[in-house]
Amino acid sequence: MTTARDAGAVARDTGRRLTAAADLNAVLSWSQQQLDREAARVAAMPRGGALDAVPVALKDNIVTIEQPTTCASRILAGFVSPYDATVAVKLRAAGALIAAKANMDEFAMGSSTEHSAFGRVKHPTHPDRVPGGSSGGSAALVAAGVVPAALGSETGGSVRQPASFCGVVGVKPSYGRVSRYGLVAFGSSLDCVSAFGRDVATASRVTAVISGPDPLDATTVDRPPLSVPTPRRDLGGLTIGLPREYFPADLDPGVRAALDRTIAAAKALGAAVKEVSLPNTEYAVPTYYIVAPAEAAANLARYDGVRYGPRRIGPEGDVRALYRATRGDGFGAEVRRRILVGTYVLSAGYYDAYYRKAQRTRARITDDFRRVFAEGCDLLLTPTTPTPAFRAGEKTDDPVAMYLADIFVCPASLAGIPAMSLPAGRSGGLPIGAQLIAPYFEEERMLAAAAALESALDATAEVR
Ligand code: GLN
Repeated sequence: MTTARDAGAVARDTGRRLTAAADLNAVLSWSQQQLDREAARVAAMPRGGALDAVPVALKDNIVTIEQPTTCASRILAGFVSPYDATVAVKLRAAGALIAAKANMDEFAMGSSTEHSAFGRVKHPTHPDRVPGGSSGGSAALVAAGVVPAALGSETGGSVRQPASFCGVVGVKPSYGRVSRYGLVAFGSSLDCVSAFGRDVATASRVTAVISGPDPLDATTVDRPPLSVPTPRRDLGGLTIGLPREYFPADLDPGVRAALDRTIAAAKALGAAVKEVSLPNTEYAVPTYYIVAPAEAAANLARYDGVRYGPRRIGPEGDVRALYRATRGDGFGAEVRRRILVGTYVLSAGYYDAYYRKAQRTRARITDDFRRVFAEGCDLLLTPTTPTPAFRAGEKTDDPVAMYLADIFVCPASLAGIPAMSLPAGRSGGLPIGAQLIAPYFEEERMLAAAAALESALDATAEVR
């Protein structure tokens, strides 16, 4: 229950925490006045909302009227949206305080936040390491205890991967479960607003609040919103598949040890465990890095210096020069790389060789999942990432190495099915995440099982 004083106290406390965590560089905008306005609004609401006076940070690609939305890009400097994203409207209606806009890789392209135009986010406990990306600011704010929950976005793992690196819970819903209205588009057939929570219960509650059909997003599925799942005490009656392609011989030993422990916990809770195969897994990264840039190249055409952000007039003074100067100055190197790759794979002569082939491969990856679920698996359990958080700078000169950090998270994104990362232990102090993957629209099964695993695992324990 919230009282006027409670919400005000939450706003002040959140302001103190944001100030204390300024070194993380996890925030792109916040103000105490804005937090106090949020508190006053919540205090005037009927009590008992699902997120009554809960402060929530939003990744800076989710538009809000009251704060700027930059997508961590110079091209959107100073942009303030004339409308709120549906997820922001839903959070507010549930009593949440929108606390801050979080740093990220520019336009959500990256796995480390090193592609932010405003500098990278520091890992909350290991400042020389990255927090993961692209929603690294949101993940770091939850891990550092600044807010109990945050929203990020997933195109190909951008919530699960930083959740794993930072030691928090990250939940990607089914494509179509949550409205994309007001989420700045990257790869529209992949993009999902996704929640971080300090624990499974919090992430479940946020996911439930933001879910449901939306007349403003025709790709949302017309099914009732997710209800907050009743956590399971055990996993009796569930069959959990372990896809062998996600446990390669050269898997990081700490990651393997954390997964062994999670598998043992699942068995002790009564789950049946069996090895399965998803043979097209090896094609997920190349497929994703064709489909996502293709869609990005089309979506980012709108940043032309006419409608959004700062305008640069090129030397020739004509409209082409305006586009060239605005886009050349406004976009960072990774965004430019994606636009070039995307334009290339869609161009006449290369479309069949790349884009069409990638679409076919995407269908096969989706079929792999469909088959193992049809053959009796209720859920799949895998590592979220092949290694714990890597060092800043380690992969910035090698885009392919950076792309490979997404190897275990891309497949579920391509298939549009729900998946989440759950803290599963630490190795050398660095958090390691276990990933659960569920059939389409079976978020409740996944979240209920995650709650049982969470209570059986000491996520702060060293695993080897
Ligand atoms: N790391 C992936 C990429 O760079 C995923 C990004 C995302 O999910 N937004 O595209």
